Amino acid sequence: MKKIVLKKGRESSLLRRHPWVFSGAIAKVEGNPSPGEEVLLVDHGGNGLGVASWSPQSQIQARVWSFDVAETIERGFFKRRLEQAIRRRQPLRSQPGRSACRLVYGESDHLPGLVVDSYNQFLVCQFLTVGAEIWKATIVDLLRELVPCAGIYERSDVASRRKEGLEEATGVLWGEAPPETLVITEYGCQLGVDIAGGHKTGYYLDQAENRHFLASISADKTVLNCFSYSGGFSVAALVGGARHVTSVDSSAPALAMAEQNLARNGFDPRQYTTVDANVFELLRQYRRDGHQYDMVILDPPKFADTRHQQNKAARAYKDIAMQAAPLVAPGGLLMTYSCSGAIDMPLFQKITADGFLDAGRSGQVVRYLHQGQDHPVGLAFPESLYLKGLLCQVD
Ligand code: SAH
Repeated sequence: MKKIVLKKGRESSLLRRHPWVFSGAIAKVEGNPSPGEEVLLVDHGGNGLGVASWSPQSQIQARVWSFDVAETIERGFFKRRLEQAIRRRQPLRSQPGRSACRLVYGESDHLPGLVVDSYNQFLVCQFLTVGAEIWKATIVDLLRELVPCAGIYERSDVASRRKEGLEEATGVLWGEAPPETLVITEYGCQLGVDIAGGHKTGYYLDQAENRHFLASISADKTVLNCFSYSGGFSVAALVGGARHVTSVDSSAPALAMAEQNLARNGFDPRQYTTVDANVFELLRQYRRDGHQYDMVILDPPKFADTRHQQNKAARAYKDIAMQAAPLVAPGGLLMTYSCSGAIDMPLFQKITADGFLDAGRSGQVVRYLHQGQDHPVGLAFPESLYLKGLLCQVD
């Protein structure tokens, strides 16, 4: 096998089972591996550390498939890894209330670069690295074998593929094309998902458990759901007995889907309002107009892609917390999220506290929230913990 020799002392993260090798850690590449090809990682003294895929164009130049140096990367390897990932989700998948969940979450499932989401009888894949890309046909074939499904669709339209020297790619990989709107069940809510045209793989599965939790605290409340996308939190709040929900998003297709989802669950249009607006501006207007809600939800898109954008992102998170806190009636709740991996929970809490301070409000964190269990965090891979939420009681 072709070899990657690390610089002296640069093996320590691999010995602790962290799966990434950055270009700066590499002393020598032996045998001229092609993009995606498997390589043996060895330390300065020639001791084997693991088998990895080679990503010459990326800053993360190797990602470990296996820490067993005797592992052969072939169909049988992917079969075992996929079976494991699917088995881990079995308890979740067999819950009657869930017809959609993530089946494979990259490094956390020891399959770097691969994401597979399941929505009813459709699977949606993302191949994020050249290592995953070259095994696409095998992986699709195995998924067909392991998960009974009607079709497998690709949503590899993510900018990070460029760092791997790959173009964006979408379309049917096998079987039927998904319908324009596929209706999934999530803890008693019926939600339309646009697999081909929606965000990510069509929907924000990572928030499913938090939406379910929201339902449990929504009874009789008025709710302002900011960055609502297709209305997942809005439907959950009404299912949980909320009195009225206002959903705000700046995407017209997302709001159209939210309207459909609210109607699909049998709610009366008097129970909900959808607003096409920029949240940053709307919160200011609502504050000027003296609006008050029992609960405000903030679930913005990722404001920071990298650590370099941390300051800019922090200002945005602080701004929305500052504008939203005064809209919460005394004793009410603010549920606020960050999905930026570059901002960890302590920093996110500090930013939120600063927003409250500038708004002249105080509060407490009554619950910390994270991505759902189908998006597990690799014990040795803290980078996979990206979704953080604070449920704050506002004084
Ligand atoms: N809470 C949603 C996911 C939100 S994703 C769920 O549970 O499914 C973030 C959303 O914010 C996207 O729908 C995007 O269209 C919207 N968005 C991004 N910037 C915005 C802005 N400035 N104002 C309003 N909506 C915005």
